[in-house]
Amino acid sequence: MQKIEHIGIAVKDLDAAENLYGRLLNSKPYKREEVVSEKVMTSFLKNGPNKIELLHSNDSESVINKFIAQKGEGIHHIAFAVQDIAVEMARLKKEGFQLLNESPKIGADNKLVCFIHPKSANGVLIELCQEIKK
Ligand code: ZN
Repeated sequence: MQKIEHIGIAVKDLDAAENLYGRLLNSKPYKREEVVSEKVMTSFLKNGPNKIELLHSNDSESVINKFIAQKGEGIHHIAFAVQDIAVEMARLKKEGFQLLNESPKIGADNKLVCFIHPKSANGVLIELCQEIKK
């Protein structure tokens, strides 16, 4: 487990959130990327080591909109950078954490990702992400 890679925030209005977090971080969004499998549009902002992933969906059946319907807008997950995602997944599984996917998935921003169920992490959805080497 390395540093916190980013914090994911579920939002209702992506343009408005980009504007707000742009002003907060004093930095412009550098990338919008759709994760088709999750029906979600992501937008990334960064300033120094701080990175925010805004998450938005137009589909009411998407996990993001179900989350917003239940809890409102706000922090959706915390992502940790890992060196070797397969090794970390095996380690956390052995530690009793419930993994939401059995093998790494392709996530946004050039990452292999795996999510850990909030039930096994005090209500916090945890994402592991490993940079895909080009
Ligand atoms: Zn994320």
